[in-house]
Amino acid sequence: MPPVAKPQHDKYDIVFIGGGSGGVAGARRAASYGATVALIEVSEKLGGTCVNVGCVPKKIMWHAADIAEKIRHAEGYEFKGPGIGAPQFSWATFKPKRDEYIRRLNGIYDNNVAKEGVELHYGRARVLAPDTVEVTKSDGTRYTLNTARICVATGGRPTIPSDEEIPGASLGINSDGFFDLADQPRRVAVVGAGYIAVELAGVLHTLGSEVTMVIRGETVLRTFDPTIGETLTKWMKHTGINFQHGAHVKRVEGVKGQELTLTLDNGATLKVDTLIWAIGRHANTEDLGLEALGVKLDKKGNVVVDEYQETGVPGITALGDVAGKALLTPVAIAAARRLSNRLFGPEKFKSDKLDYENIPTVVFSHPTIGTVGLTEPEARKKYGDENVKIYKSSFRALYFSMIPEEHKEPSVYKLVCVGPEERVVGIHIIGQGSDEIMQGFGVAVKMGATKADLDSTVAIHPTSAEELVTMR
Ligand code: FAD
Ligand code: NDP
Repeated sequence: MPPVAKPQHDKYDIVFIGGGSGGVAGARRAASYGATVALIEVSEKLGGTCVNVGCVPKKIMWHAADIAEKIRHAEGYEFKGPGIGAPQFSWATFKPKRDEYIRRLNGIYDNNVAKEGVELHYGRARVLAPDTVEVTKSDGTRYTLNTARICVATGGRPTIPSDEEIPGASLGINSDGFFDLADQPRRVAVVGAGYIAVELAGVLHTLGSEVTMVIRGETVLRTFDPTIGETLTKWMKHTGINFQHGAHVKRVEGVKGQELTLTLDNGATLKVDTLIWAIGRHANTEDLGLEALGVKLDKKGNVVVDEYQETGVPGITALGDVAGKALLTPVAIAAARRLSNRLFGPEKFKSDKLDYENIPTVVFSHPTIGTVGLTEPEARKKYGDENVKIYKSSFRALYFSMIPEEHKEPSVYKLVCVGPEERVVGIHIIGQGSDEIMQGFGVAVKMGATKADLDSTVAIHPTSAEELVTMR
C-alpha cells in the first residue's frame, strides 16, 4: 500500500507518530496481530535517524575508514604495488553510492510496512486529543485520524548552540550535515566528546582529514568506564588527532563551506574548513501538542514514560529516543515490539515490556569499543569497594604482530565483578573487533554469568575475545 492521501478507516487501533526505528517496528508488529494501524512520517521517507543520518551511513563510513587502515597495514604484511600503504579515498564518488544504498533501504522499509498492512501517511503529526491525531501534508492540507491509542516515536535531532550563545555557531554543521558533505573536508574541528564526536572524528582522521577535537574535559566518552575513555583519548592523540582540552568555542567567523576561524576560551584559534557540533541530541517534542494534554516532559523535553512506555495520559505511549533513555536503535525497536506485543499480542505477552538493564552498546571508534553493564565507579558506588573485584587485561591483537610498533592499536579489557560469587556486572572492552565481540558477552551478563562461568568456557584461539575467558 503506497502512502495514502487521507484516512482509510474511521478509527484505528493505534497510530504511530514517526517512521523511524521505533515507529516502524511497533507499527509492523501491531499490524501483524491484525490491529488497524496508521504510521505518520513527516520526512516522506522511512527509517528515521538510524537509516538516513545515523547508524547505517555512519557504519558504511566506518567500513571505508577501516579499509583505509587495512591498506596502510598491508605494507606490514609485505603486500607490494601501487597504492599499498597510501590509500586514496574518493569521498565525492562514494557519497552518492552510499546515498543510493540508503534510498534502497527506504524502499525496503516502504515495502515491509505495506506488506504488513500498515497505513502510511506522509505529513506532520500533532496530537489534538488522546484519540485524535492531525496530519498536515507538505502542501498544507490537513485531516485527522481517530484512534484508540497513540504511540509517540518522533525521535530527536542534534543540538547546536544558537548564534546568541556562541556568535557564528550556525556556520558549523551537525551529524546530519556530515552526511551531506559532498567532498572530504581537509581540516575539521569536532566539538563534543560523546559517541558521535569520536565516531565522526575517527572516520575523518582515518580517511585523511586533519581533525581537532574541542572537548570540555580531559578525555572523551566520560560516561563510559574510565579505562575506555582514557585508552581511546590516548590512542586518538597518538594517531595524530589534535585535542583542545577543557575548551569551549567562544566565537566562529568566516564563510560556511570555506574557511572558518574558531576562537576558543583557552585563547587558542583554529582555522578549519568544517566545524561539526556533536554535543548531544534533544527530543522532537515541540509542536506535538503533548503538554496541553497533560503528557509530562522532563527538563530536556523528553517524554516521561513508565516501564510500559505509558505516559500517564490514558491511550498515549512514547518510546525510542523521544523517551530519552538509551538512545539506540535496538532499544527503540525492542521497546516498540514489546509494546505492540502487550497491546495486541497473545495472552503470554500481556505484561511484555523492555528491560532497560544491561543493554550492550558499541562505539565505532578506531579501535572499536564494546560495553555492557556497570562501569567500575558505578559498581563501587552501588556495591561498596570491598565487594567489587576488577579483572583487567591490556594486550595487542595478534593482527598487529606484523605491523610497525607505532601502528599497533591497544586492546584493553575489563571485567567488573561483585560479591563472593563474582557475578559479572560490567564488561568494558576497547580494541580491534570489540564491536563484534560484545553481543555474545551481552547475553552472558544478561544471564547473570559469574567469573567462574567465563573461566569454565573454553577459549577460542587465536582471537582477542579469548582474553575475556582467560583473565586472572
Ligand atoms: P528516529 O529514528 O529518529 O525516528 C523518528 C522519526 O519521527 C523520524 O523519521 C522523524 O522524521 C519523525 N518525526 C518527527 N516528528 C514528527 C512529527 N511531528 N510527525 C511525523 N513524523 C515525525 N544507534 C545504534 O544503535 N547504533 C549506532 O551505530 C548508532 N549510530 C548513530 C549515529 C548517529 C550519527 C546518530 C545521530 C544516531 C545513531 N544511533 C545509533 C542512534 C539511533 O539512530 C537512534 O537511537 C534511533 O534512530 C532512534 O529511533 P526512534 O524511532 O526513536 O527515532
Ligand atoms: P552523547 O550524549 O553521547 O555525547 C554528547 C557529548 O557532548 C558529551 O560527551 C559531552 O561531553 C558533550 N557536550 C555536551 N554539551 C556540550 C557543550 N555545551 N559544549 C561542549 N561539549 C558538550 O551525544 P551524541 O550526540 O554523541 O550522541 C547521541 C546519542 O546517540 C548517544 O548517546 C547514543 O545513545 C546514540 N548514538 C549511538 C551510537 C552507537 O550506538 N554507536 C553512535 C552515535 C550515537 P562532556 O560532558 O564529556 O563534556
